Amino acid sequence: MHPIWRVLATSAALLACSRAQPASVPAPSEPAPVVTQMQLALASDSAAIAFLIDEGTRRSHAPDDLRYLTDIVGPRLTGSPGARRANEWVGAKLREYGVDSVALEPWPFGVRWTRGPISVRLLAPHERWINAVSWAWAPGTSGSVAGDVVSVDATTRADYDRRFAGTLTGRWVMVTTPYPRVNPDAPDRADSVRVDSLRKLRSRRLTPDERDFQAHRAELLAHDRVAGQIIDGGKEFGLLTMSGGPDDVAPFPMVVVANETFAEMHRDLTAGERVRVEVNASNTFGTDTLTQWNTVGEIRGSEHPDEIVLLGAHLDSWDLGTGATDNGSGSIAVLEAARLLGALSAKGVRPRRTIRFAFFMGEEQGLYGSQYYVLAHRAEMPRFQGVLVLDNGSGRITGVALQGWDELRSLWTDMMRPLSALGPLPVRSGNKTGTDHLSFLPAGVPSFNYDQVGKGYDHTHHSQADVYDHAVPGDMAQAATIMAVNALQLANLAQLLPRHVK
Ligand SMILES: [Zn+2]
Repeated sequence: MHPIWRVLATSAALLACSRAQPASVPAPSEPAPVVTQMQLALASDSAAIAFLIDEGTRRSHAPDDLRYLTDIVGPRLTGSPGARRANEWVGAKLREYGVDSVALEPWPFGVRWTRGPISVRLLAPHERWINAVSWAWAPGTSGSVAGDVVSVDATTRADYDRRFAGTLTGRWVMVTTPYPRVNPDAPDRADSVRVDSLRKLRSRRLTPDERDFQAHRAELLAHDRVAGQIIDGGKEFGLLTMSGGPDDVAPFPMVVVANETFAEMHRDLTAGERVRVEVNASNTFGTDTLTQWNTVGEIRGSEHPDEIVLLGAHLDSWDLGTGATDNGSGSIAVLEAARLLGALSAKGVRPRRTIRFAFFMGEEQGLYGSQYYVLAHRAEMPRFQGVLVLDNGSGRITGVALQGWDELRSLWTDMMRPLSALGPLPVRSGNKTGTDHLSFLPAGVPSFNYDQVGKGYDHTHHSQADVYDHAVPGDMAQAATIMAVNALQLANLAQLLPRHVK
């Protein structure tokens, strides 16, 4: 990986697929700045748009395609055979849907990690089997490893040296307090005042000493030869979570347990009880840097084939479920938009600019696929008209954030107007994080990630419940139709949109 991009990717890894805001906490709305609006007239595409809406909402292939991608192709962990299968399946579907060309564009990823079996047993204060999974790119245990659990609640190096250094050999460590959760079914988010204040406390700004300790904590724990780390799943009702990547290979086994289990262990330790677990986990690493691929297809423009509108989503997923909401649904929306625009060009109506359909791998490990895409296509970036990404679950599109292009508010409002039957689709100021549109911002390309309704994304995101059942067919059809229409509108505008280098 190019060093500059590695830095970007490492910081982006923390952001990849950030969770949606819980429904009960409204997203902070930034006040709309007064910005002179660019006067950009849309082409008169009403017949083409009517065709896309009719085809997209009445004969959608999105539900069937998502079912195949999730139930049959399955999880798409970057570097796994499933990821390659998905690259090829999407490529074949793009060809079937009539795009002009399809390519699997290679880039260097890192070492492969393969999840093996795991068993975790609580040995004290009572005995029971625990549902747990290994953190990605963490090693296994090489057999059963029993050890006491210790809450390493040091916040600085000095504190760690005083209370923990040299005492943790063979121990399973927890390094956080349990993520405070409310019962989502309770009326008025019962207990929410206490939980909100606990969450606020956790998100406070760290001192430089605390930040430095956190940056070096894993190194210190490895040096002290801990057995491994126990990680809080952070969700409710036994849901687990997943993350990790080849740029951040764990120095010891790391095991994710449900938030309730983590809280139980923490409660017992706080009460002075001995907590003991036995873990047997076997994961394997490859030895060489793997090549991975983005699947990219395009419908060539009739007037400006070298100018590009890109619809994108990440095709990779975590492997506890089958990646239906993160981000099978976004990928299938892009694929369905390709089908709709392919059907339109088969009727002889081609976009003026080229429309590309990009299915990025490696987003979950730090936006790798899209960052390499921008690097490989850097000469084209000044001719990119715009990038539209979908990656906030399977809920319908509810509008768009302007990502700093506030002078395009009128344009976006005009673009959403013919879609009013699929709305409301408000246009707002604000910057969205967490996915592949970010990779295009340093190149100055107007890049957007649509707003979407939650529909449980906060629960399914990265968990074992991220499966087809949580996708909503009507919402997927709506999202795909909006993406197809917006792509056509941007492709047919008279001029290129302004660049902002970020
Ligand atoms: Zn995602």
